[in-house]
Amino acid sequence: MKVSIIGAGIGGLASACLLAAENHEVNVFEQQANVGGKMNRFEKDGFVFDTGPSLLTMPHILEKLYQNCGSSLENELSLQELSPICRYFYQDGTVFNCFDDRLQTLEEIRKIAPEDELAYTKFLNYAEDIYNKTADAFIYNPLYSLSDFRQLDLFSFFGIDAFSTVSDRVDQKFKSQYLRKFFKRFTTYNGSSPYQAPATLNVIPHVEINQGGFYIDGGLYLLAESLQKLAESLGVVFHFDSTVQQIITKNKTVTGIKVNDQIIESDFVVSNSDATETITRLLDTGAVSASKKQKAANIEPSCSGFVLLLGLDTKFEQLAHHNIYFSNNYEREFDQIFDAKVMPNDPTIYVANTSYSNPKHAPENGSNLFVLVNAPYLSEAYDWESKKESYGDFIIRQLEERGLDNLSDHIKIKECITPTDFYRKYSSNKGSIYGTSSNSKFSAFVRPRNKFKGLNGLYLVGGSTHPGGGIPLVVQSALNAVELINRYEK
Ligand SMILES: Cc1cc2nc3c(=O)[nH]c(=O)nc-3n(C[C@H](O)[C@H](O)[C@H](O)COP(=O)(O)OP(=O)(O)OC[C@H]3O[C@@H](n4cnc5c(N)ncnc54)[C@H](O)[C@@H]3O)c2cc1C
Repeated sequence: MKVSIIGAGIGGLASACLLAAENHEVNVFEQQANVGGKMNRFEKDGFVFDTGPSLLTMPHILEKLYQNCGSSLENELSLQELSPICRYFYQDGTVFNCFDDRLQTLEEIRKIAPEDELAYTKFLNYAEDIYNKTADAFIYNPLYSLSDFRQLDLFSFFGIDAFSTVSDRVDQKFKSQYLRKFFKRFTTYNGSSPYQAPATLNVIPHVEINQGGFYIDGGLYLLAESLQKLAESLGVVFHFDSTVQQIITKNKTVTGIKVNDQIIESDFVVSNSDATETITRLLDTGAVSASKKQKAANIEPSCSGFVLLLGLDTKFEQLAHHNIYFSNNYEREFDQIFDAKVMPNDPTIYVANTSYSNPKHAPENGSNLFVLVNAPYLSEAYDWESKKESYGDFIIRQLEERGLDNLSDHIKIKECITPTDFYRKYSSNKGSIYGTSSNSKFSAFVRPRNKFKGLNGLYLVGGSTHPGGGIPLVVQSALNAVELINRYEK
């Protein structure tokens, strides 16, 4: 069958590979000049940066993607287990390294929080238990029709801790302020607040610490390039600088898309554009009711991010590959981001220093710092145009105060990416970087499904759809969509 895919983010790329492997005729239309979407790369003067994701979890989902397309992850990419996975810097000068080797981490915990040594192991077992109870139900199941819901083991739901918040459960389990902050941080992996999201999200430490956090040798962008290559080898045709203007429908059935004022007839369409954008902007009111559009517009996006790319003529020896500088008052930081929707005045700062593992990412004796601060999604409460320079300078000063001495004197190149850029370049809903938020216990149920209900022939993939944001879940959205395509497009 003839398929049009809107967008060449990870969701669109994975869908293209899977559908071409099943002998569909696949065309991908991408508004930018290259593949990857929010997973992208910036290079200048010998510095190389991933501009989006920097950590890969759940590689078994990628493995499944490659296998379904007749290849293997091992053939395509080389994964590196990082040691430590991440280094944490607290405001009082305490430093904590987290390893995937539990004994090594316990040694670190004995230094900073001996009272919680046992609690650490117990918590990871609890996180694993949540994973065992939720993965089949909420990740690997498309949750589309009654038959999907029938597969759920309802007894398991009593143990998924949906009625407490991440923060309340973590506070209950740990005495140490250091470990409380450490475990609350994982909720930001899908752009949510630990003070609002259900404790079910305590599953994330299991995914990173028990299953492992990986770097792709050469940079994460190699994943996007590898999927493009695989797709092309399977016959997929990419059309760049091609913005899809509309999804064409007739009698509640998709018949094609409009690109550059031309109609491309299609038997079905997969949209990797953000689900809210797809429903509110690409479908006209004849295709979908005003109330459905309003419902899509009301979906709460995940947080966004403010990024600085700093090319330095020096290395800071205290930095590992992944580093976190914690704020002092974590709760106030999240109130500012999610409630006041302004940038935090005491932010937690993430620094990826990939030249630590990959010396080719910076000129000799230099380093490349990717600096990320959680940001509110776009609203009238914060004007990026007038504030981006001063906020960037503020972050550089903060890092200097936290021990990156004279950082500003060592900057050779500086680029900044704001939530407005994420919206303008990739049409992500209000500039969100992970898709929809998980700030309510019902989020898993309101997230748009991988087949759009109410229209034949429209499938949705990407971080704003089921099962959620981040590389592995986005790939899973494509696996789910293809399962539904095989069910409904015969
Ligand atoms: C700074 C940052 C850090 C992150 N860190 C991590 C991390 O460490 N680990 C992790 O797993 N995840 C991380 N993420 C999240 C991860 O990058 C995303 O979940 C994932 O890349 C999203 O993929 P996607 O397919 O949903 O969408 P996108 O990447 O948004 O792709 C959608 C594509 O569709 C195109 N498009 C949209 N509308 C149209 C149209 N009308 N016509 C044509 N093309 C269109 C866009 O241009 C874009 O290329 C991070 C994201 C960011 C931005």
